[in-house]
This record gives sequence, structure tokens and C-alpha cells, in this order.
Amino acid sequence: MKNKYSDCFYCGGVVEEKLMPREIRWGGQLLIIENVPMGVCAQCGEKVIKPKVAKVIDQIIEEEREPSKTIEVPVYEYELNLAEQIQD
Ligand SMILES: [Zn+2]
Repeated sequence: MKNKYSDCFYCGGVVEEKLMPREIRWGGQLLIIENVPMGVCAQCGEKVIKPKVAKVIDQIIEEEREPSKTIEVPVYEYELNLAEQIQD
């Protein structure tokens, strides 16, 4: 069953539910919950999470379940020097 969302708070665009991965920082660790139902604004891309959905995410994390899989995440440093080379 899909959740209903009101129009985008920022731009007034139509918000539609999509299943998206959600990244969460938890105790210094990066976690990813996949297939989270989120409202996504078709116009500006702003994402909205229903309080109920947020509760389910909290519950999944707090139960410290065995993750369905573990992936390695490459981490890069932002390069300030590169930004200076790029013309706006
Ligand atoms: Zn919007």
C-alpha cells in the first residue's frame, strides 16, 4: 500500500512514492537501508519520509539484525583545488 504525500513543501511539486536506499550514520558507522518508501518531489527531488517509515528504520537498526548484505563503500576526499580549476 502506498503512502500519500502532500505537495512539496519547498516548490509545490507533486510528490510521488519511490523505493529508495536510505543512508544512515549510526554510532560512527554508515548503514544503508534499501527499498525504503520515500516521497520524492518530481520537480526538485526533495525527499520526504513518513514518521511511520522512520520508526520502522529505527526498529531495524535497534534490533541489530544481521544485514542482508555488506558492501564496501569507497570514500574520497573532496578536492578544493579541482573546484578552483572548474569554470562556473
Ligand atoms: Zn519540490
